[in-house]
Amino acid sequence: MKIITRLYILQIILIGAIIAIMMVVKLTGNIRLNLFLKSSHANNERMVENILKIDREVFMRPLHDNSEWDETVKYIANPAREFEMENLNSLLSTFLFNHIWVFDQNGKQIYYINDSVSVNLDTIKLVSQINDLLTPKSPFCHFFINTGNEVVEISGATVVSTSDTKHTLPAKGYLFFGRNWNREKIKHLEEITGSEIQLFLPAIPKNQTITETPFTINYNLPDLKNRTVGKLIFTFPAYNFQEWKKDTTIFTIIVIIMGLFIILIIGFLSRQWLVVPLKSIIRTLDTGKNQHLQRLKSLNNEFGQIARLIENSIITNNELQVELKNKLDAEKVLTYLKNKAEESDRLKTAFLSNMSHEIRTPMNGILGFAGLLQEPNLTGEEQQEYVRIIEKSGRRMLNIINDIVDISKIESGLMEVDIQESNINDQLEYIYAFFKPEVERKRMLLILKNTLTLKESIIKTDREKIYAILTNLVKNAIKYTDKGTIEFGCTLSTPETFLQFYVKDTGIGIPGDRQEAIFERFIQADISDKHARQGAGLGLAISKAYVEILGGKIRVESEPGKGSTFYFTIPYHAGEYTPTSNKDVFSREDLSLQIRKLKILIAEDDETSDFLITSILNLNSNEVSHVNSGELAVEFCRNDPHFDLVLMDLKMAGIGGYEATRQIRQFNKSVIIIAQTAYGLSGDREKALESGCNDYILKPINKEELLLLLHKYFNPGSAT
Ligand code: ADP
Repeated sequence: MKIITRLYILQIILIGAIIAIMMVVKLTGNIRLNLFLKSSHANNERMVENILKIDREVFMRPLHDNSEWDETVKYIANPAREFEMENLNSLLSTFLFNHIWVFDQNGKQIYYINDSVSVNLDTIKLVSQINDLLTPKSPFCHFFINTGNEVVEISGATVVSTSDTKHTLPAKGYLFFGRNWNREKIKHLEEITGSEIQLFLPAIPKNQTITETPFTINYNLPDLKNRTVGKLIFTFPAYNFQEWKKDTTIFTIIVIIMGLFIILIIGFLSRQWLVVPLKSIIRTLDTGKNQHLQRLKSLNNEFGQIARLIENSIITNNELQVELKNKLDAEKVLTYLKNKAEESDRLKTAFLSNMSHEIRTPMNGILGFAGLLQEPNLTGEEQQEYVRIIEKSGRRMLNIINDIVDISKIESGLMEVDIQESNINDQLEYIYAFFKPEVERKRMLLILKNTLTLKESIIKTDREKIYAILTNLVKNAIKYTDKGTIEFGCTLSTPETFLQFYVKDTGIGIPGDRQEAIFERFIQADISDKHARQGAGLGLAISKAYVEILGGKIRVESEPGKGSTFYFTIPYHAGEYTPTSNKDVFSREDLSLQIRKLKILIAEDDETSDFLITSILNLNSNEVSHVNSGELAVEFCRNDPHFDLVLMDLKMAGIGGYEATRQIRQFNKSVIIIAQTAYGLSGDREKALESGCNDYILKPINKEELLLLLHKYFNPGSAT
């Protein structure tokens, strides 16, 4: 059992003990009261008896004097009137007697006197028995008689000569005195005893009951045969019980209050001295915090000592814990750094082996088939095939380089956002048109489900990034699907806060535990399969970065063997809808016709690049001029204001593309100048536009991209 509980039990026991003591006090109070009443009754009784005894002796004294006297003997022998007058009659008033009787030795009454009502002793047959009643052996008698109206006390004696005090000789006569127990006598007794006295004749009448209390004393008045002829009831003033009870109650209350006070003090002190320190110690041990010990510590007793010991142990414990935590933290940091280092190592290794593979494979194609092309006797078809392979390998390498440049830009924070009004429907349709042939070549179906109205599709966003994300997702869908359908589209949320794009395929799918990792750079879902389908593992990392730059989210739902659906969102900021801005998709035939009519200047100091552009455009254009410096470009334009288009290499010997453009713009504001550069770094595009170029194309020049640009500026149905 807890010490605190024991203390509480002790307090309860104490309270119980005090209550018990109080009950004992109350109980003994009653006993003491009874004892007190009994002893006071006994005292009263003794007092009554003594007083009555003295009273009787006073009554009997004259009897002694007058019965043992020669003169009385003489008087009985010879009754003389003088003796009666001088001695007997005066006794009445002297001793307050009411009756005097004198009998001779034969029992014959020779004298009787009274002061009130006469009493005849014969009525009690006294005279006939007088010789038996008074004998030499018992020469005195004392008794009461009831006369019917009152009680008379009577004392009698044998008369002998003065010398015969021992009553050796026969009685010479008999002398009796009587005293009435009237109101006067009772009153006298009341004064002496200090009580109230009632006299009942012969005893208490039946219809009257006497309440016997500790303060009443009964005294019987006996007749000759010891029978009660009257009863005296002495009632002493009752002790004031109310007062006594009040005193006792006050005493009890004081005892209770003192008891409670003592309990409270004991409770308070035991709480302060034991419970509080114990609780502080328990709390400290429970929580391990030493703030509860501050007060205890200062105590100069065992608790103070315990508190100081506990505090020391807590401090030591805390230090140990901090040490342990530091150790664990250090271990964690070390493990984290180790993992990071290992991961970075892994990534580097993966990157290197991947890059090596991804670059070597197309290079192998390019160099291998370029070598084969030099073989003599190749058929036209073989040559076409080799060229096609070289072109495909070159495009693949370009893709890798573009991805690496993009991811570097993203990671170094150089990727910029170019928010413009864009037509999402056009973009979706363009992508559909672009990839449809490739999907059909794989004998699959490409579906576009677009729910945006024309008006909804005009939004403010970075169209290049949307294009890159969608292209990448559709490309992946085609790459990782061998049969079935590829579906993509876009929906607008309600309320109109974001656009959600999706690309769904029925391809190989992605295992659940890889669905997050594939968005990291250089990570592919299936390591073992990674060379089966080409790729550097950068596409999704770039797409995710783009989506996040635009303020959206990207995720995938996929089931291996069934297919995958990639979702991404972008915030919806409605653009200005102009009914003419609805056509980005172009018809190659229209464009070819249009381009053929254009007058074009190619400013390029690299022959291969010049040749490539010429090759792309020669198919379509009749009038193309070539210059290999900025100065010449300016000169050509100055001399011929009819050029429709200048394809300006930015890095040329001499004044270079930027300066040449600036100079041309001084005299020709209408010619379309498209900058071409191999840098592809941030700021190039802006710098080119700033110097006066209308647009910008990255080398190596992609035929589709170039045509798209030309379509933008020269297609008859185009918005711009
Ligand atoms: P990669 O160049 O390897 O395709 P990505 O970053 O585009 O790089 O994709 C990362 C990996 O995600 C891929 O290697 C492939 O394992 C998985 N993946 C991406 N798209 C799909 C898809 N539509 N179906 C199945 N797997 C996909």
